[in-house]
Amino acid sequence: MITGACETGSFVKPILNFIDGKFVRGKREFADVNPADGSVIAQVAEADENLVDDAVQAARKALNGEWGRRGIRERAARLHKVADAIESRFDCFVNAEVADTGKPVTLASRLDVPRAAANFRVFADAIKMAGVESFQTETPDGTRALNYAIRKPLGVIGIVIPWNLPLLLLTWKVAPALACGNTVVVKPSEETPATATLLAEVMQEAGIPHGVYNVVHGFGPDSTGEFLTKHPDVNAVTFTGESRTGAAIMKAVAPSVKPVSFELGGKNAAIVFADCDFEETLDGLSEAVFLNTGQVCLCAERVYVERSMFEQFVEALKHKAEKLRQGAPSEQTTELGPLISAQHRAKVLSYYKLAHEEGATVVTGGGVPEFGNVLDKGFYVQPTIYTGLAESARCVKEEIFGPVCHVAPFDSEEEAIVMANDTEYGLAASVWTTNLKRGHRVAQSMNAGITWVNCWFLRDLRTPFGGVGLSGIGREGGMHSLNFYSELNNICIRL
Ligand code: NAD
Repeated sequence: MITGACETGSFVKPILNFIDGKFVRGKREFADVNPADGSVIAQVAEADENLVDDAVQAARKALNGEWGRRGIRERAARLHKVADAIESRFDCFVNAEVADTGKPVTLASRLDVPRAAANFRVFADAIKMAGVESFQTETPDGTRALNYAIRKPLGVIGIVIPWNLPLLLLTWKVAPALACGNTVVVKPSEETPATATLLAEVMQEAGIPHGVYNVVHGFGPDSTGEFLTKHPDVNAVTFTGESRTGAAIMKAVAPSVKPVSFELGGKNAAIVFADCDFEETLDGLSEAVFLNTGQVCLCAERVYVERSMFEQFVEALKHKAEKLRQGAPSEQTTELGPLISAQHRAKVLSYYKLAHEEGATVVTGGGVPEFGNVLDKGFYVQPTIYTGLAESARCVKEEIFGPVCHVAPFDSEEEAIVMANDTEYGLAASVWTTNLKRGHRVAQSMNAGITWVNCWFLRDLRTPFGGVGLSGIGREGGMHSLNFYSELNNICIRL
């Protein structure tokens, strides 16, 4: 085992790059920090431009080798083996993810690691079912032809991933890319390198050929991320992260005109009507605002509540927030872990300060919790609710990515729709009502890639996922992923 004693969440060996089936050191190392107490978990081998090039060349060679020649049935079987191997190392993945991200162990066990295995299973099955178009053609002069498309791999895929759901988001892209016969070079976030390297061990166990899955560790600009995305032999880039970074990657890929798939930031709205199921909505919104300490791109940072129940709802949400148990991520009772880093905490706290300056009323939170133990060295903030901000306030417009929301009242359905859509982002929305027609009507009015009615973060992996505006380009999920990771070539045969 390369990454050391993952059962205890501590790593005895450096976290290494994985290139052409070998675990590789770099010339430099950087520290992987545990966000719960600021301790160093491991050193991480950084990939310089030469190592990134080695990884891309290994991926290119593997594309033309055994993996490229394997049929769909064989590839799908291998991907199921990857899922089996993740499940057989379940605790190992959970511990590594918890140590890296600071997320509660209950969350990693219920969401991140099961979803990683599910991603491989879903796309292994999807590729076996994936048909292609065919047309019987007849031109005005009576000429007849048969057109049909064939699916080919896109090539070497560069995959760049953030830190909030590292394994889940990584496998969400790796699984369909490999199912389609591509090879990949992945660049995990510098904050959360462990599970990508653990996945390399799993790939070896599952018999995935050398060079098909490669991992390069490092940073973004002028570092591993940029070296990978601008590499001329990378055929496509799929990225999840901040909208600003998406714009930088777009520039980097422009000279070689690579296709991109971008899953970016959000400033998601929830609309709560007075006819909602109060308790169900409260539970749902408490998750939507605070899950993973608000560090899910789909989290609701703007909550609009019908005026007739505004005070009552704000009070109830405040009680929910104050009852959330903050603590050590490894404790079964912990519901809220730290933010990912000191830097990210400084950003979130700067928004807490800004909210004051912009005239917010603090319903609860707004500061840093005190534990009286080693967790005080971690990057915790209090779950926070504001009211009273203008819709134009920066805290209402900009993504904060912490356990925080602003709650505002509305008087009519039309007003709620206008307020919810008044954003440059458009990733997700949720609508809470027991009126069926209204649920459909409002959901269909949302400018968002996904709108939930009376639920949140309920995902069917076959459905299209992505954002509008600053929230992204393209859709992944089910056939949408398979189409992104394939080249469809049309064959026209005169009959
Ligand atoms: P980030 O954009 O700072 O970093 C993401 C990754 O990009 C990291 O691996 C980083 O090293 C790399 N990177 C940074 N600059 C780069 C550059 N110039 N070239 C190449 N690579 C570069 O994002 P983050 O802070 O890690 O993640 C949080 C963001 O991700 C939030 O905005 C959140 O909304 C978004 N997100 C979106 C989704 C979605 O599905 N839409 C899912 C999760 C997170």
